[in-house]
Amino acid sequence: MSVTSIAAINGITSPLLERLQDQLGALGAAGLRRQRRTTDSPCAPCVQVDGRAVLAFCSNDYLGLANHPEVVEALREGAGLYGAGSGASHLISGHSRAHALLEDRLAEFLAPHLVLPRALTFSTGYMANLALLAALGGTDADIFSEAVNHASIIDGARLSRSAVRVYPHGDVATLDLLLAASQAPTKLVVTDSVFSMDGDLAPLPELLALCERHGAWLLVDDAHGFGVLGANGRGALEHFRLCSPHLIYMGTLGKAAGVSGAFVAAHESVIETLIQRARPYIYTTATAPALAHALLTSLTLIGGADGAQRRLHVNRLIARLDGTLRLQRWQRLPSFTPIQPVIIGGNDEAMVAAAALDARGIWVPAIRPPTVPRGTARLRITLSAAHSEADVDALVVAMNTLEEPLAHVA
Ligand SMILES: *Cc1c(COP(=O)(O)O)cnc(C)c1O
Repeated sequence: MSVTSIAAINGITSPLLERLQDQLGALGAAGLRRQRRTTDSPCAPCVQVDGRAVLAFCSNDYLGLANHPEVVEALREGAGLYGAGSGASHLISGHSRAHALLEDRLAEFLAPHLVLPRALTFSTGYMANLALLAALGGTDADIFSEAVNHASIIDGARLSRSAVRVYPHGDVATLDLLLAASQAPTKLVVTDSVFSMDGDLAPLPELLALCERHGAWLLVDDAHGFGVLGANGRGALEHFRLCSPHLIYMGTLGKAAGVSGAFVAAHESVIETLIQRARPYIYTTATAPALAHALLTSLTLIGGADGAQRRLHVNRLIARLDGTLRLQRWQRLPSFTPIQPVIIGGNDEAMVAAAALDARGIWVPAIRPPTVPRGTARLRITLSAAHSEADVDALVVAMNTLEEPLAHVA
């Protein structure tokens, strides 16, 4: 046995462990060491964390469905119908009636925006993006990726072995030039619809027009738009009233839908290709059917009067925050989505601001590099339909009185 394979349990030093400890020490010294907090209650505005109740503005549960009694009951019912686990991957025996029904309902839901659509569910959005890019990309494809895309898109593009061209944030003109210069038979433009750390929207109509002109596909990651945008909650495509055979849509089911998982909706040939070729789909155990069963209830809520009411309420909360937050040094980004970031700048001040809010019983996460660009550390406020106006007012009072006393940290 080599020395490096013996861990420090025997008190023997290990060069490998020392290397990790050095790296962790450097992260700590740079103020970038991250810590998890453990909650003891459902995802809701008031959460029990580390032994006390706090008012949280952290989750992506934009419609407040994660703890909706009907969704919770459906999950229970699903466990009764299908048991706890699926037992196998989709292509072996793990594909249940609940998964099949969910795919049909999702395809139907997105049908106004796609041509001959079919849907396919995935365990997570991360895996859906890996699957999509790896299955459609390859050495004969060029991928055109927006600069601030989600990490799962960046990783999927790497996995695909395609040539990757990154275009600047929102820069349609540069993308046009890059597409014109590409000789690849397959061109994939991929973008978040709602940018997860800024809350702004990609110019999807302009991007789609470019794709149609250059014979490219437009892959839309609507993780933060699905359920939230559009009169019926169908997401970014409904918001912009888009419909095209060039569109490939990815939505996640653990954010506004309140449960877990993700799906791709696209032309049936795209979906059949994913079933045959996408390794993150094929080589993994299907999610618990009970989750798919619960998601049928989520979808009914999202597309019905309850969802419309929830979207109206969260939009009122966004307007209320907008009308009452008064900041001097800190900068609120222009966003009309439930993602409402406040740019603080330095890592230290962002951490001190989050700690000062925490001392007042308010939980807002501080987001630091590398998740966001250097010098743009921020408080990422997210609003949910489960919040009340009084919750937003409490946050605003705290933020408005905090900024000035923290000037010395900047
Ligand atoms: C959250 C997120 C994902 C990943 O989805 P999960 O279901 O959480 O794995 C992908 N893309 C974007 C833009 C996201 O915000």
